[in-house]
Amino acid sequence: MGQIVKLDDVRTASLLPNYVAGQWVTTAQRFDNIDPTTGEVIGSVCEAGRAEVDAAVMAARKALSGPWGQMKAADRVAMLHAIADRITARFADFVAAEVRDTGMPLHFADHVNVPRGAANFKVFADLFANVPTETFPMDTPDGGTALNYGLRVPRGVIAVISPWNLPLLLTTWKLGPALACGNTVVLKPSEETPSSANLLAEVMAEVGVPDGVFNVIHGHGADAAGQWLTEHPEVDGITFTGETSTGEAIMRAAAKGVRPVSFEMGGKNSAVVFADADIDAAVAGLARSCFQNTGQVCLGTERVYVERAVFGEVVARLAAVARALKPGRPGEDGADFGPLNSRTHQEKVLGYYRIARDEGATVVTGGGVPAMPDHLKGGWWIEPTVWTGLGDDARVVNEEIFGPCCHIAPFDSIDEVIGRVNATRYGLAASVWTSNLSTAHRMGAALEVGICWVNSWFLRDLRTAFGGAKQSGIGREGGVHSLEFYTELRNVCVRL
Ligand code: NAD
Repeated sequence: MGQIVKLDDVRTASLLPNYVAGQWVTTAQRFDNIDPTTGEVIGSVCEAGRAEVDAAVMAARKALSGPWGQMKAADRVAMLHAIADRITARFADFVAAEVRDTGMPLHFADHVNVPRGAANFKVFADLFANVPTETFPMDTPDGGTALNYGLRVPRGVIAVISPWNLPLLLTTWKLGPALACGNTVVLKPSEETPSSANLLAEVMAEVGVPDGVFNVIHGHGADAAGQWLTEHPEVDGITFTGETSTGEAIMRAAAKGVRPVSFEMGGKNSAVVFADADIDAAVAGLARSCFQNTGQVCLGTERVYVERAVFGEVVARLAAVARALKPGRPGEDGADFGPLNSRTHQEKVLGYYRIARDEGATVVTGGGVPAMPDHLKGGWWIEPTVWTGLGDDARVVNEEIFGPCCHIAPFDSIDEVIGRVNATRYGLAASVWTSNLSTAHRMGAALEVGICWVNSWFLRDLRTAFGGAKQSGIGREGGVHSLEFYTELRNVCVRL
């Protein structure tokens, strides 16, 4: 195992240690934390080796039967509230960490990412405190009676593997229910955005979460901490958000020992605008869903279908919005969007911008890198981009790009557009814009997605089921649905 250190000793060196069994652990192997707005190194992260991964999992295993396992349900609820309150008390620290690691706009961190970080603990604490289980009185073959009742028990040690696009929101979306159900956790945050995981560890320590209940290991995925965590035989369940191809690798790891998985994965989401829609609202909604957080939102739109009568108008108006968006540092006056998260991701998105041109797309706006002032030239900037003119078989219409771009195509009938929207291996989300109630309900029933918004986008009630259809996910989290993964439902049969 690495070296145990005091947090204050490493903080000054901008070094992020691992958090194992309530202790901060450095390792000799390090990787850089990079500011995506400038490309400059802003810190160093201790990469967990097999020894640290093993220590974290074993600490989580041990903590299951310690004070955490004995804790009264009401005390656990109070502790989750205390975690949420502490996140709120340290709001500015979390916002600073998130914008530094991701480059996301300040208002997005302030209004979406960090508040949801606190809400994810409160909502699940309150929900699960009031969940009933089933009971079935029965007659026995010998003329007696018996009573069956369900007991929800924690699944055990949960591995949480999260991506870089909304680090705090997506991580706590899994931590909240995992802890509320009495599990212990080993978190491996994305190597691109490690900071808020350590702040969470600080918060856990500050409110007295017992050692070993929450552990953080830093590192990469394949042949590194991520893979070693998912392969560890003492992990009882794996919850993962990220790319579908990574989900395939994690599923292979989970097959050994037949461990359950909960996956939230990639998408290629469509928006459909009918001619009867409120076009102002539709264009505003499209602009958010295509360009918010520089297109790095799993629920974002990359395929737009517009009924032919209003096609030209919607293309022109969405392109005008895209052109008017100003890139800039988080919090900078007039900045609408930040950079992409990493050089690798910028190369990927620019690669798709080239593919679109090679495939014969009409580039209505964007398609390149915006001119930036000297101090930001080293960042991973990208232009919001709108294409038209491609068939549904084009690569940029089929493959997830995860950038601020969309292809807009006209359609002529509802049956046609349903078929086109569903012709993808993904099935995460869709948004439909119409003033016709029947059209709205018909689309909601016909589109093969986990969530279908009508005249809205990104409205989330945390009590609802969330997840992806087809290759966008396995299982549902959210509300009482999270119980399916984070608990075992045991039947107790008592002969009376
Ligand atoms: P990614 O799959 O590259 O990485 C996600 C996490 O998995 C990281 O922590 C990474 O280190 C880890 N990882 C990678 N290989 C691994 C392996 N072999 N074993 C174990 N862990 C491994 O995804 P990303 O680039 O960080 O995130 C972007 C993707 O996430 C997009 O596809 C996006 O659609 C998806 N996403 C989905 C949702 C959703 O709710 N469905 C939400 C946000 C993001």
